Amino acid sequence: MKRTTHEVFNQSTDFADVNLFTGNRALADALRFNLPGCDEARFVALGAELGSAEMQRHARLANHFAPSLKSHDRFGRRIDQVDFHPGYHALMAAAMRHGLHGTPWFAGPGAHVERAAAFMLFTECEPSILCPISMTYAVTPALRANRAILRQWGPGLASDRYDPRFLPFDEKSGLTMGMGMTEKQGGSDVRANTTRAEYEADDAWGRRYRITGHKWFCSAPMCDAFLILAQAPAGLSCFFLPRIRPDGSVNAFAVQRLKHKLGNHANASSEVEFDAATAWLVGEEGRGVAQILAMGTITRLDCAPGTAGLMRHALALALHHAAGREAFGRRLIDQPMMKNVLADLALESEAATALALRLARAVERSENGDDGHEALIRRVLTPVAKFWICKRGSHFAQETMECLGGNGYVEEHGEGVMARIYREMPLNSIWEGAGNIMALDLLRALRSAEVGAALEREVAPVRGAHPAIAATLETVRRAIAGAVDEARARRLARDVALLLQAVLLRQHSTEAVFDAFCASRLAGSGAGDVFGLLPAGVDTAAIVARAAPGARG
Ligand SMILES: Cc1cc2nc3c(=O)[nH]c(=O)nc-3n(C[C@H](O)[C@H](O)[C@H](O)COP(=O)(O)OP(=O)(O)OC[C@H]3O[C@@H](n4cnc5c(N)ncnc54)[C@H](O)[C@@H]3O)c2cc1C
Repeated sequence: MKRTTHEVFNQSTDFADVNLFTGNRALADALRFNLPGCDEARFVALGAELGSAEMQRHARLANHFAPSLKSHDRFGRRIDQVDFHPGYHALMAAAMRHGLHGTPWFAGPGAHVERAAAFMLFTECEPSILCPISMTYAVTPALRANRAILRQWGPGLASDRYDPRFLPFDEKSGLTMGMGMTEKQGGSDVRANTTRAEYEADDAWGRRYRITGHKWFCSAPMCDAFLILAQAPAGLSCFFLPRIRPDGSVNAFAVQRLKHKLGNHANASSEVEFDAATAWLVGEEGRGVAQILAMGTITRLDCAPGTAGLMRHALALALHHAAGREAFGRRLIDQPMMKNVLADLALESEAATALALRLARAVERSENGDDGHEALIRRVLTPVAKFWICKRGSHFAQETMECLGGNGYVEEHGEGVMARIYREMPLNSIWEGAGNIMALDLLRALRSAEVGAALEREVAPVRGAHPAIAATLETVRRAIAGAVDEARARRLARDVALLLQAVLLRQHSTEAVFDAFCASRLAGSGAGDVFGLLPAGVDTAAIVARAAPGARG
């Protein structure tokens, strides 16, 4: 008979079969503020589905059994395809069923805000499959510059069906798209691109070219088509490059290898070569950067709710663990210093959620024709949200992991979710314009007096709500007036982010959260320090109670 050596106790429980929405008060409040009257029942159902043990299992397996490249078939013919675990396909199907890809462009008012909230919840379940989902969402505004292609591809991009088959677009029930900008010699500086485009002929999809060159990063190569940049006679231009040509032949798109990445394991990121591949011009020759940025600005949006979702999940795991584990005679969550840490993390998570959804509203309104305040403030919100939320992400993941102690560092624990979050965090900061590029973009935006005025308008309703808001606004004004030099642009991006986060927390969070945020991030020099430095007088118990994760799903 097997002897029992010890009893297992004082371990927290699985965080599974939880409703990711019902416990997320920060998200519910931000949603109500940005989209009054939205259908919350939809989110309750989505929160239950995404928090289910079954979806967690798909997420774990899709990451554990990473995609593999099948460059050739068994007879030696080149096929350039990628194999995925069934878990990946299940997650992709769910994301498309819930309309996280192309559907908001073809839906009614509020669809972009709803989608951002749903994206945030999905990120909690699995973030890496959202790469092709995000790119498919983002492509429509750029593709409008080639009406013939959009007319034929639009319905597939907006379909709620996932169809992973490698077939011509008109034989598929759902389509996905990716983007290829980065080359070996230059990513941020795409003007250094050497891939070239030679004009071939005009046809039903417009001006057709032959593309020769490479992309050093091309995520989700099993997408049906890509927007890419290449040098045409008039300069860098944007092209639509399908994997299968309209006549059914396979395009000259070769996948050289898949990247071996720190995280983001369920997503295939590849290096590709084009050997006289067929592609069609999108927009004008020589205007490629502006054209593809119509896509890039939307994928930048997704970095904000994407990271905010990861933060929320890491926080929920930390709170759940701290409530279920004792040390030195008390539950961790009741230890004064741990409560300070958890409350501080909760502030950061809620502020990220608030900023991300505000950006989604600006995108929603400006894409639907508001060329006034919303379009102007979007110029500030996009770089600021991407810069600051993503910069805080890695730091946040480390601290939440530490809340779980040694278990947090172990892959097996909690289906490896904490380790996945930790590995994923740096990515949103790097791709789609790394931190410095975002800060430089903000600097450019704020050189416009109109954009500066929009920032003032955004702050105006709550300027008197806390002395630190007025003081931070003054700092920002001075920086803008002094035409901040590039070396200090990060400081400006941080200050604007904190200012806008405080404004939003005043508008849709609690007194305790708002006061603590101002006291720790604006009045103190706390932002950027370690978590858990909340000053005396902060109602940490109220903040932790507000953040407590959800009811069972
Ligand atoms: C997993 C993954 C998937 C990706 N998928 C895709 C994809 O599908 N399609 C695609 O096109 N790309 C993709 N990328 C590439 C990504 O967008 C680039 O890596 C990113 O834009 C940075 O470009 P880079 O790597 O060339 O770095 P660089 O441009 O060399 O930048 C390096 C550093 O220098 C900084 N820097 C650059 N210019 C300045 C400046 N003027 N002042 C101050 N600092 C500066 C940057 O902020 C950065 O920190 C992917 C990357 C990763 C990691």
